[in-house]
Amino acid sequence: DWDYILYVNDVLGGESGGDRYLILDVLGQGTFGQVVKCQNMRNHEIMAVKVVKNKPAYLNQSKMEVAILELLNTQWDPQDQHHILRMVEHFTHKNHLCLVFECLSSNLYELIKQNQFKGLSTQLVKVFTQQLLDCLSVLKDARLIHCDLKPENILLKSLQSPQVKVIDFGSACHEMATVYTYIQSRFYRSPEVLLGLPYSASIDMWSLGCIVVELFLGLPLFPGTSEYNQVSRIVDMLGNPPGHLLEVGKQTHEFFNYTGTDAFGKKQYVLKSMDQYATEHRTKEQPSKQYFKQTKLQDIILEYPFAKKNPKQSDIDKEMANRRAFIDFVEGLLNLDPIQRWSPQQAAKHPFITGEKFTGPFQPPLVPGSRKSSSVAPPTPAEPTPQTT
Ligand code: ATP
Ligand code: MG
Ligand code: MG
Repeated sequence: DWDYILYVNDVLGGESGGDRYLILDVLGQGTFGQVVKCQNMRNHEIMAVKVVKNKPAYLNQSKMEVAILELLNTQWDPQDQHHILRMVEHFTHKNHLCLVFECLSSNLYELIKQNQFKGLSTQLVKVFTQQLLDCLSVLKDARLIHCDLKPENILLKSLQSPQVKVIDFGSACHEMATVYTYIQSRFYRSPEVLLGLPYSASIDMWSLGCIVVELFLGLPLFPGTSEYNQVSRIVDMLGNPPGHLLEVGKQTHEFFNYTGTDAFGKKQYVLKSMDQYATEHRTKEQPSKQYFKQTKLQDIILEYPFAKKNPKQSDIDKEMANRRAFIDFVEGLLNLDPIQRWSPQQAAKHPFITGEKFTGPFQPPLVPGSRKSSSVAPPTPAEPTPQTT
């Protein structure tokens, strides 16, 4: 896909009198292109530049990325308070669209890896989750779906402070224009997308649930090796999706057998066996490898080894209380039913996030509270109006 190779010391931009950027280093590779660390040759600022492949499909998606980031940066987060990547400009260089971003540090996958896949402290998981919920609240108000939330797309601002930003809006879309059905990276793909159902901003909350558990455990919660394996891992841990989802999913019959109706006339489904699926699809399916001996999410989290050596009883009590709150929190995000899954505004009120004492299963406020108004008052018209570009 590359007719143009990037080298350190090359210069990007300046084609129509704009700023020029000297390439210092390669920061990352993705499906859409390469990201390079650059120095702006006019003001010497260090920036990250995403150079997009010059294939029409990538170019068109990246034009969406530009439009969505401009909208978010100017209309929804003008003060840069909501953990959303800043884009400062864009230009074309030798037929490649280039997006100029603030330069951030490691992504959360790299952080987990640097930590030898041991998982982060409950406290750090909480801080990152708060920030991600803040970002997702803004996206929900803007009626935008990120569609590719995963550790690689969440970056530390610097190595000094525990601040993250959400990047890569290259798959994002408006809730009223959900064009694609094959979206989200497999490990973080929601049940409704797997089943071929209409989807909304709640798919990002599913991904968030997978991500926060991964931050805690250091390993992905549902590391599916195929679409079937992804579905089967989810069903093994959380049970069948509710019948009303299975009944309408365009992909339901790929993964499930219809077994007739129960005494109440409700349709019944069971997951196909690995062998049945493999025969029907002429694929080779591997049995799921499990990282943990426990099968229930609650047990995996409660029995996860302690980071601290020789903890005092009071440390243990505190950590276990935090873990119980954490379990209740992630169960609200990993709800198989997108309608019942908590919104970012609801999740932000959970004791795990607010720091209030956790006394038992959390009941979120019924009306999803708006980001700025209280849950009692109707949303105020002071919300910014998104521009249609
Ligand atoms: P994907 O395959 O997830 O769609 P992509 O091609 O859309 O990826 P990005 O996710 O935008 O590309 O960037 C790829 C990688 O480059 C990121 O995971 C990150 O490690 C690095 N990167 C991207 N933007 C920045 C930035 N602003 N500062 C530092 N590193 C960055
Ligand atoms: Mg990416
Ligand atoms: Mg992308």
